[in-house]
Amino acid sequence: MAVFENPKIIEVLRKYRRIWAIGHAESVLGWDMEVNMPKMGIQERSVAQGELSVLSQEFTLAPEFVNLVEDASSEELNEYERGVVRVLQRDIKISKAFPPDFVREMSETTSKATMAWQEAKKKDDFSLFEEHLEKIMVLARRAADYLGYEDQPYDALLDLFEEGLTTKDVENMFSKLEKPLADIFEKIMEDGKFPREHPLEKEKYEKESMEKVNIAVLKAFGYPLGERSRIDVSAHPFTTEFGVNDVRITTRYEGYDFKMSLLSTVHEFGHALYELQQNPEFMMSPIIGGVSLGIHESQSRFWENIVGRSMAFARFIEPILKENLPFMEKYNVDDIYKYVNTVRADLIRTEANEVTYNLHIILRFKLEKLMVNGEIKAKDLPEMWNEEIEKLLGVKPKSYADGILQDIHWSHGTIGYFPTYSIGTIFAAQIGSYIKRDVSNFYGLVERGEFQPIREYLREKVHRYGKIYPPKVLVKKSFGEEIKPEYFIEYLKNKYL
Ligand code: MG
Repeated sequence: MAVFENPKIIEVLRKYRRIWAIGHAESVLGWDMEVNMPKMGIQERSVAQGELSVLSQEFTLAPEFVNLVEDASSEELNEYERGVVRVLQRDIKISKAFPPDFVREMSETTSKATMAWQEAKKKDDFSLFEEHLEKIMVLARRAADYLGYEDQPYDALLDLFEEGLTTKDVENMFSKLEKPLADIFEKIMEDGKFPREHPLEKEKYEKESMEKVNIAVLKAFGYPLGERSRIDVSAHPFTTEFGVNDVRITTRYEGYDFKMSLLSTVHEFGHALYELQQNPEFMMSPIIGGVSLGIHESQSRFWENIVGRSMAFARFIEPILKENLPFMEKYNVDDIYKYVNTVRADLIRTEANEVTYNLHIILRFKLEKLMVNGEIKAKDLPEMWNEEIEKLLGVKPKSYADGILQDIHWSHGTIGYFPTYSIGTIFAAQIGSYIKRDVSNFYGLVERGEFQPIREYLREKVHRYGKIYPPKVLVKKSFGEEIKPEYFIEYLKNKYL
């Protein structure tokens, strides 16, 4: 039985194909921009990308297409077909929400803001960014008004990145995390079982040697290199998919502290696997692909944290490291484990360990809510940031670059995005708890490099559904309960205390 049978849905999918093709082209251009493009190409590339997204919006809002989707929605549909209608109605709603003038203003403001942010960060001078951020806060509020919301404006922004997520959900999640995380962190700092620093952070490596490590790990994971996937290098590692049979990751090589390269690769593999294990019958339809940013991040965090930061993984990878990195002969399995699990009060979110990571997100969430509600001005932010981070981590930034200016997201106008990182981290631990229950000897499999049953579990529970169901429904359907921070706290307690 084919997944799509209703004639109206088949007509919708036929029309949708050109929207899909534009998305495909946009992905290729985006990937090329990060991986291959010479620096000066940026001006023409930005215009090309801008025009393509306008074209995509035109096709999405073409009356004939909108009517077709509306028509199909009143038919008797199977669950796949209902998924198609849900995803397209949401796309249409979002595309329709913003008037062209607003889109232009947003785009101009954010390109200027991004340049100002880079300059401000380099010169460590917040005042260069302040008025841009102020404008973005006002625009974010307007975006929320255009999108509409039931309870509060921040809901509209959250929903843009994570379908169905509300401010109340996030408040509820963080209220269960903040205190326990602070307590666990304090205890780890006191008992010193997990070091703050490790000598492996200083060891230098040759890029070619580290490439061999990454490729050996990817092959063991079952990444179909060359067949359906690639690995390249970019400043900020990412995953992109052009379709179910062309999924690409990137990684980074600093030349020292090899865990940055290794765990980036492992992380991106998790994103890639989600796309590679989609149901091929959904190919080129609106329901293929990861359902939301939060669920996507749970897949990458699962491989990075639950697999990659485990003792079993340290045992698995020891021979691969020893074969390729000469300095490794001085270190044992316990060193590898401690090295990937150092715990300290990092001021930089992207360098934070899994214990303090969510505290960084809690801070951004608090500030974003105040910004969107118009309760604070941009000029108040640096001081609030420093006070709050000191409360959370006990350390104060010495520069703006280590504090308020560290993340690029606000300059892009992406407000309401950070909580999806927390959802990913938390849900990854929850999946970890289920997989230990459902797959016998989970850590034994990791240690022996037998990843097939793990891939299969994730395919069965998450990947094969694509976007048929909204994130909350998917989680409930596959695991019988909602996302619960308690699992994450349990995981940290077991591991660190
Ligand atoms: Mg990620």
